[in-house]
Amino acid sequence: MGRIFTKNIKALAKTGASLDETLFHNANGYIGVRGSLEEGVPHDFNTMRGTYINGFYDIVDMKQAENLCNLIEKKETMLNVADTQTIYLTVNGEPFSLLTGDIVKCKRSLDMDEGVTTREVVWKSPKGDKVGINIKRMTSFEELSLFTIEYEVTALSRDAKVMFSSAHIPEVSNYSDASDPRLAAESPKFINLVDSGIWDGTSYALAETTRSGLKICSMVSHTVSDPRARLCTVRDGNGNMICDVVCNVKKGEKVTLVKYSIFTDSLRFEDPVKAAKEKMGVVLEDGLPYFYSKQRLYLKNYWKNSMLEIHNDARMSEAVSFNMYELLCSSAKDSYGNIAAKGLSGEGYEGHYFWDTEMFVLPYFVLTDPYLARMLLRYRYRTLDKARENARLMGHEKGALFPWRTITGVECSGYFPSGTAQYHIDGDIAYSIINYYLVTGDLDFIRECGEEVLIETARLWLDVGNYVNDTFRINDVTGPDEYTCMVNNNYYTNMVAAYNLRWAVKLYKLLEEKGLAGALKKKIKITEAELKEMSEAADKMYFAPLSKDGVIPQDDSFFDKPKWNIKGTPKDKFPLLLHYHPLHLYRYQVCKQADTVMAFFLFGDMIDKKTQEKSFEYYEEVTTHDSSLSKCAFSVVASKLGMKDKAYRYFGNSAEFDIRNLHDNTQYGVHTANMGGSFMAVVYGFAGLSVTEKGISIAPFVPDKWTGYSFKINYMGSRVRIDVTKENVTVTLEEGNPFTMEIYGRKRKISKTTDVIII
Ligand code: BGC
Repeated sequence: MGRIFTKNIKALAKTGASLDETLFHNANGYIGVRGSLEEGVPHDFNTMRGTYINGFYDIVDMKQAENLCNLIEKKETMLNVADTQTIYLTVNGEPFSLLTGDIVKCKRSLDMDEGVTTREVVWKSPKGDKVGINIKRMTSFEELSLFTIEYEVTALSRDAKVMFSSAHIPEVSNYSDASDPRLAAESPKFINLVDSGIWDGTSYALAETTRSGLKICSMVSHTVSDPRARLCTVRDGNGNMICDVVCNVKKGEKVTLVKYSIFTDSLRFEDPVKAAKEKMGVVLEDGLPYFYSKQRLYLKNYWKNSMLEIHNDARMSEAVSFNMYELLCSSAKDSYGNIAAKGLSGEGYEGHYFWDTEMFVLPYFVLTDPYLARMLLRYRYRTLDKARENARLMGHEKGALFPWRTITGVECSGYFPSGTAQYHIDGDIAYSIINYYLVTGDLDFIRECGEEVLIETARLWLDVGNYVNDTFRINDVTGPDEYTCMVNNNYYTNMVAAYNLRWAVKLYKLLEEKGLAGALKKKIKITEAELKEMSEAADKMYFAPLSKDGVIPQDDSFFDKPKWNIKGTPKDKFPLLLHYHPLHLYRYQVCKQADTVMAFFLFGDMIDKKTQEKSFEYYEEVTTHDSSLSKCAFSVVASKLGMKDKAYRYFGNSAEFDIRNLHDNTQYGVHTANMGGSFMAVVYGFAGLSVTEKGISIAPFVPDKWTGYSFKINYMGSRVRIDVTKENVTVTLEEGNPFTMEIYGRKRKISKTTDVIII
């Protein structure tokens, strides 16, 4: 059965244009093109037309109201680059639009095996001409610079004079919405045309950013199936380049226009125009069918490693596959970029990378594509110097503080209480490096990059914390919950910090033991005394005493505050962040997202189970889940605590979050962290996966509504398929060497043959 997500569109809804632009966007980790209609829609149809390049940005002023020392006054923002998706169609003189005539049929699909989106329309023009329109779009995984549109028109009612007018629009603006803090509020135009031209029907444009000095080249070429048709590319008066084609199509016959767009940027290419020209030459020679077949092959391989199927629930299977597909589309394939909170699907959060990558998406790639995971971790390593500078800016004499949100590694969060103060990002990145090591055993990566990050982040903890009554405390930080800011001893933060400190020492000792620590020791001058300090801080990390009901306090003052009346708050006042002043929210016990519960996800095996149960139930009552990162974490922990029904409910919400637009904000882009979270809810939650120093273990259960599920993971270079039913668990080694896995507490050798364990 193919992985296809389809939507029938009866009429173009004014509110809907933007949502479908997200759901049917094309991306390959380098380029992202929103699924806007080629022919456009009027502006009041709420469209966000855009094309983005991972890691390509400009710098924007972010004036602070008060001139306090070292506040960030500049930020980076992801840019909308040239529009090459515009194609106007005229049939016998009538312009095609979904807003005129009759839409006999309109179906949009995303084919996750073929890696293409399609729009199939049967349109009856106002004068009664009927045409079939099939549009197929792809951002190629084979040639990351390539975006294609195959536009096919069939004359259904009589012969038709078909005219395409295909535009290459180099100067475009970013989207803005001053009323939503999750979007850019100001100054949308960042790129200026430097040079453009038309050679032999191919148009190119070189544009430069206003302040970051980066350049982007876009190049467009066309082919048409009708040998008699003439393609003519000219400039219009606005600096756009337009390719016109006129074809006479007999009734029952069709004509196809193929539009090839190449994007190259100066981050990756010394001479973007030259690179684009070379690429275009190769692409035109190889032709579209070649790139379609490569796309299919690439995805065949992807699904071979990254499969998750629910046996009797096609709807959930589709939702999870959609999420896994979008993660692939969102993720950079080189270390110039990373995974933005909205991937390359929209401008929400300005293309910034957050802890979302390390804590929600990387766990997925570590298990399914360790090579890609390593690349993403390398991105953080590349930005380590900037993290060091950030630490100095924040007054720390040593260590590195990674930015809360960024593109190139510099801090871009303007509101520090729920931005820079989230120091846990250091611990998150450290956790993710350790997790990568535990799953892959890749000590080379630790030696080359990982350990330096672990030591520098550990040093930061030593600098930020202090001793009180022989306990190590971390004051004035913000945990993951952005409704509770600037607190002392946030439980989650102290847990990740202790883990970071402990493992920085452990892995350093391991490298030393193996004679691999020399270069690092020389580079960052680590001493025995410092290692001792790290171990001591980890051992003496402070955790506030439990409440009298046995609940872990989120931080030192959390329980001193009154509880927010969540049940009594009108539905239209959520998310709270859009309706209440932040300071007002901070004075209540109300959580935007999993915070202490997130710590149970990571460190559940170190915490007493009863305490976790009581705390879980407590935090459920005070959490609004206004963040998309929340329910997936609650699902995993509910599974671990044996609360199966709850786990399933939280999972359902997480799985369908974007595909069904459950928070009514998918129009601004997908939520990549939650997408990784829905995978984790099954694999870490229902299947009970755990990877620690002791090895890998699972203890699966099947939610009541399902008959079973299957997924694949990689462990130490081997790939296994795990099939879970209500009767048994089957583990099949598909590739690599045998290894030991603990299943329901018993060690089993996973060998070439299938191992069936009766539940
Ligand atoms: C969440 C953060 C998250 C960010 C980007 C915010 O709403 O509170 O935890 O990193 O969105 O997804």
